[in-house]
Amino acid sequence: MTAPDIETVVVGAGLVGLAAARALALAGHDVLVLERHAAIGQETSSRSSEVIHAGLYYPPGSLRAKFCVEGRRLLYEFARETGVPVARCGKLLVATAAADCARLDALAANARACGVKDLASLTAAEARALEPELSCAAAVLSPSTGVIDSHALLVALEGHLRAEDGNVVLNHAVEEIGIGSDGTFELSIASGTQAPARLTARNLVLAAGLGATRLGTRIPYRPGYRVPQVYPARGHYYALASKAPFRHLVYPMPDSGWLGIHLTLDIAGRAKFGPDLEWQDGEPSYVFDEQDGARRAAFEAEIRRYWPGLPGGALHPAYVGVRPKIYKAGEPVADFAIHGASHHGVDRLVALYGIESPGLTSSLAIGAHVAGML
Ligand SMILES: Cc1cc2nc3c(=O)[nH]c(=O)nc-3n(C[C@H](O)[C@H](O)[C@H](O)COP(=O)(O)OP(=O)(O)OC[C@H]3O[C@@H](n4cnc5c(N)ncnc54)[C@H](O)[C@@H]3O)c2cc1C
Repeated sequence: MTAPDIETVVVGAGLVGLAAARALALAGHDVLVLERHAAIGQETSSRSSEVIHAGLYYPPGSLRAKFCVEGRRLLYEFARETGVPVARCGKLLVATAAADCARLDALAANARACGVKDLASLTAAEARALEPELSCAAAVLSPSTGVIDSHALLVALEGHLRAEDGNVVLNHAVEEIGIGSDGTFELSIASGTQAPARLTARNLVLAAGLGATRLGTRIPYRPGYRVPQVYPARGHYYALASKAPFRHLVYPMPDSGWLGIHLTLDIAGRAKFGPDLEWQDGEPSYVFDEQDGARRAAFEAEIRRYWPGLPGGALHPAYVGVRPKIYKAGEPVADFAIHGASHHGVDRLVALYGIESPGLTSSLAIGAHVAGML
């Protein structure tokens, strides 16, 4: 048996791939990250709301609930230690009509069951005392929700990985994955116009986000195992041209797996609104589609339910993010899927699917979990 070229390969240099690679390197693995783009974090990880979620929405006992609560704690700690810019600004979850108050209470109860212990229920007057421009029937304050500079986080994770002698190779797309007779992974890797390179690895982590299904289906599994199918769902963001009259993030009631058109602040205090939800066929697209003004009008109507004072003409197209969902429109919301040998029967392979929100918040916790699986 010949020794593999590398002990552990991670495919994908997004937040989750880099967090897993860092955790593996800290655990003593020789790690190489392969990324198809010319820079780290060019897909989902640089197109999010950048919110450190408290963990209000997910079913108790789910991976999303567990990793969100644990990941939030780890992320604040990591930001404090590394200087990654973070702001624990807090969030108001609002019932914009009296009819929504029962759902607001149910969400608060769900959050407490998930281990979120610091929520405060507010009357409309108490909420307005915090945010005078806010319109609501009632609200829940989540003081531990915050925002983080996701770009600085990506850079910090890569820095830690390299400090542990790990490496990130850009412009290299994994195309095929074989398994040798001794269980070694045999990767075929494309880079520009060069002939495909071959690389062998003892352990393999697939953290390929929107590309996860395409990659995952390249592997021979035990009969009966089905690779989760990724369904891209676009979300547009509009930025506010003027200074935001809010200090907290503001979220309306969620609708199934969609959190609604919410107001978030970036680390510099600039406000943006979104993302909306648009299921997409085919390849993910980041083109901002204004729909001849219809999208902006829909955003304004949604925002004015909690901020009636939004001035006309204040919104400007910002960017589009694409969620790697693993359920279709109308189906039950799926949990994160982190599959090891007990799922697919392949030793030393960890494959991640459906790592949408709260994937940023959960990144360090998922990274530690993946390292523990190998
Ligand atoms: C609109 C939106 C808003 C969000 N808001 C929040 C939020 O506020 N808070 C929160 O906690 N989470 C949020 N999320 C979720 C969070 O952004 C993601 O869960 C997280 O960034 C996923 O990271 P990742 O590393 O799994 O995926 P990605 O960042 O997509 O990284 C996957 C990488 O794999 C690479 N890749 C794919 N195939 C190959 C291949 N064959 N070879 C080599 N490389 C490959 C890709 O190029 C990519 O760089 C949001 C997501 C979206 C879309």
